[in-house]
Amino acid sequence: MKVGSVYHPVYLEHDTGYHPENARRLEAIVAHLEATGLQQQLTPIEARPATVDELALVHYPRHIARIEAAALSGGGSLDADTPMSAGSYQAALYAAGGVIRAVDAVLDNTVTSAFALVRPPGHHATPGQAMGFCLFNNIAIAARYALAKLRLERVLIIDFDVHHGNGTQDAFYNDPQVLYISTHQYPHYPGSGGIGEIGAGSALGATINIPLPAGSGDDEYGQVFQRVIVPAAERFRPRLILVSAGYDAHWADELSMMQVSVTGFAGMVRTMKGLADRLTGGRLVFSLEGGYNLPALAASVKTTFDVLLDREDIDDSLGKTPHPRAAPDISPLVNKLRELHDLP
Ligand SMILES: [Zn+2]
Repeated sequence: MKVGSVYHPVYLEHDTGYHPENARRLEAIVAHLEATGLQQQLTPIEARPATVDELALVHYPRHIARIEAAALSGGGSLDADTPMSAGSYQAALYAAGGVIRAVDAVLDNTVTSAFALVRPPGHHATPGQAMGFCLFNNIAIAARYALAKLRLERVLIIDFDVHHGNGTQDAFYNDPQVLYISTHQYPHYPGSGGIGEIGAGSALGATINIPLPAGSGDDEYGQVFQRVIVPAAERFRPRLILVSAGYDAHWADELSMMQVSVTGFAGMVRTMKGLADRLTGGRLVFSLEGGYNLPALAASVKTTFDVLLDREDIDDSLGKTPHPRAAPDISPLVNKLRELHDLP
């Protein structure tokens, strides 16, 4: 069983200065994978730039042109928290293309599963707008690519970033071929992702939002994975599972108020890998979204690879939060979700 990893130095050229989403994130991940010897166990997958036609599977042409023009003029700010530099357009093309390459590699059996270590991240980018550190929606483009170019019938996207993936939700809100499931702190940025947002038209029910209260940790995430995500995924019978992998629900991350540990992320990845083994012949592609505490991010990404490689030993030197908050009781939320989505 081979596990692929996508990385390209062009991802560092998206220069955001002292913004929390900066090139040091990927540098920390790569350094940790090398220092722990994990890198040598992975199959490298070469990134390529996405074509404009591929971007247009999700984005309006005027949005693509606007991002290209902003880079050509040297960069600037697209909104209050989405900076760009001269290198951002190229980095963003390779980010979307990197996830596409990961999808190709699992579908042509070069690898069983893969993780695209890309930036800028993507899940907040809507068809017409860059926002929340995101320029193009990498995971949504890869899902559309799998549906359109590779003729897969159904794609599942699981988004465990601590923020709601509003852009991904928007892209597939009317599309019954994509089941989008998001766990996120709620209320929190960007404000969307309420339990009642469940898709529209023939895609009614193909969006599942799991809005978690602040303070949720390993046990709460474990509960929603087992009681909501697993039965929903099994009913949907995807041909491919894509994952918006953001590690900002870690207790050390300053952009959220969750209490997940590296061990907790390992549990979620184990559950998703189990789903892939049962439903898609193991075909599972991760794409990096958030995660802003560098040691927690690097350790969590390494753990993700450890689980994909079937390694039992989880290295969680950061441990549990030293300042635990009382865990919220999420059973009523879980029961409501199971009823709303009529889960078996
Ligand atoms: Zn996030």
